[in-house]
Amino acid sequence: MIHPHLACKNCGSGDLRRSRGRSLSELRKMAVGIYPFRCMECGYRSWISIWSSSKFAKCPRCLSFKVVEWSASAYRLSLSKQILLAAGARLYRCTMCNRKFVAFRRPFEEKQSDTLLDGPHPALTVKTNL
Ligand SMILES: [Zn+2]
Ligand SMILES: [Zn+2]
Repeated sequence: MIHPHLACKNCGSGDLRRSRGRSLSELRKMAVGIYPFRCMECGYRSWISIWSSSKFAKCPRCLSFKVVEWSASAYRLSLSKQILLAAGARLYRCTMCNRKFVAFRRPFEEKQSDTLLDGPHPALTVKTNL
């Protein structure tokens, strides 16, 4: 599984996999949202916090940014999720591992679509009424 937005601190590869916690202290870290990742290129093991500075919604299971907004019927959600949604959070589905989660952050892809221009640049299509 490739995480385009995570990179190995040692070699810069984006091919990181989550590895298992091996000791009690590691499991404690994981309980607060810091997970060990192993680089598939060079084997370097690093800890990445899911609460790190990103301002985008991120999957809590595999830490992928490839999430899409997901609209579910409210009655299928747990009460805690309903409360979060009522407070302004959004429901997301991870396209990598299919995990559904709630986050207050916006999706990474959201702002990107309007920078991909298929047609001519808007500045070139201004009509001249002369
Ligand atoms: Zn590496
Ligand atoms: Zn995921």
